[in-house]
This record gives sequence, C-alpha cells and structure tokens, in this order.
Amino acid sequence: MERVEYFDPEHSIILYKQYKLHKHTENTNGIIRWRCQSCKSISVTIDKEGFIVRTPANDSNHRVNLCKKLSPVQILYREMVQMLQANYDPNLVAEALPSEETARVTCSTNKSKSSKKDLKSSLSLEISDELKLIQISNQQQLFLRFDNYDKKGDRIVIFLSDTAIEILQKAEEYHLDGKFKNSPKMFYQILTLHAVIQNQTFPCAYIFLEKK
Ligand SMILES: [Zn+2]
Repeated sequence: MERVEYFDPEHSIILYKQYKLHKHTENTNGIIRWRCQSCKSISVTIDKEGFIVRTPANDSNHRVNLCKKLSPVQILYREMVQMLQANYDPNLVAEALPSEETARVTCSTNKSKSSKKDLKSSLSLEISDELKLIQISNQQQLFLRFDNYDKKGDRIVIFLSDTAIEILQKAEEYHLDGKFKNSPKMFYQILTLHAVIQNQTFPCAYIFLEKK
C-alpha cells in the first residue's frame, strides 16, 4: 500500500499523481475520501494511517481543460516553501517568497528581456539603480553587493540579498557551482553560492565573472 502525500501542512489537500484532491467525506472509522474539486470524478480513499486504500478506476481521467496538473517544478517549489516554513517563522517565509506563479512569471519575463539585449562586452554593461535592488517581503533590499567596474575584461559583479545572507548564516554547508552555458555572453561564467540546510540547497549569491 502506498502512503498518501499531503499537499499542505494542515492535511486538507492531498497530492495524487500531480493533481490536488480535496477532502470530501470522512467516515466514522477515520477513512477519508478525497476528490478532485474540478472534475469531481477522480477520488481516492485513504485510511486513518494515511495509506491509499482505493484508487480511481483505470479508465477514469481528469478533464483536460478543467483540472490542473502540477508540474514537478511546482511541487518542488511547494516542498521548498514548506521546508523553510518548518525551520523558520512560517509567516515570514510566506511574506518573503513570491507565490509559485509570480516567481514563474517573473523568471520568464526576465529571461525574455535579457535574451533580447545580450551584450558582448561588459564595458557596455551598466546596472541601473533599480536593478541593484531586490524586492523581498515588501521591502527593498540591496542586491548588487560588489562591482569592480573593470574595463580591461576582468569585471566581477556579485548579487546577494540580506535574506540570502541570513540563510547563509544558518547553512550547514556551502556549495559553489559554476555555470557557463547560461551566463550572458559578456561573462565567462556565473558562480552561484548555495546554502545547504537539511539536505536541501538554496542558491544565495550570484557571482558574474568575465574571466576564469
Ligand atoms: Zn479532476
């Protein structure tokens, strides 16, 4: 028997094959039926120990345009948020992190913006005051911590927020990771400094290096 995976810490929603099922009916013996709120046709029954006792029939399906399947990234994001909330003030974590949707939209917007104007030399790179800051927890934090403005091809730029510094201080381990393919053309590589907390890694600092 397979153990159920709860979607939320309150155990009011379960995650079954990447779909969210809500608590539907509870028997006196503690057996709970969970059902997809969108199609109302997919349901799973869980015993009071949290084991799945009845799964949907093989020929039953969610409705394609109605039910929302979570991507592995969305599931990973939720797990990361829950892990942080278990270790730190849950309200603070909720405030500090954007919703999964906001994070996704922001990433894709920034990606399309940056790919349009990919400069070849760091000489022409000027970071505006607006881009030196990052919005975390409804509060502007300094994000650009270091820029040597080197004009001879050895530019070094470091981004790191106050929140990231706090996470780094609580880290059990640090990892440094070099990325070459994804770095803007003017830089040789992006080094990311990750904090490891309870076997999970969090990227904290972004170091752009023009030279090796
Ligand atoms: Zn459904």
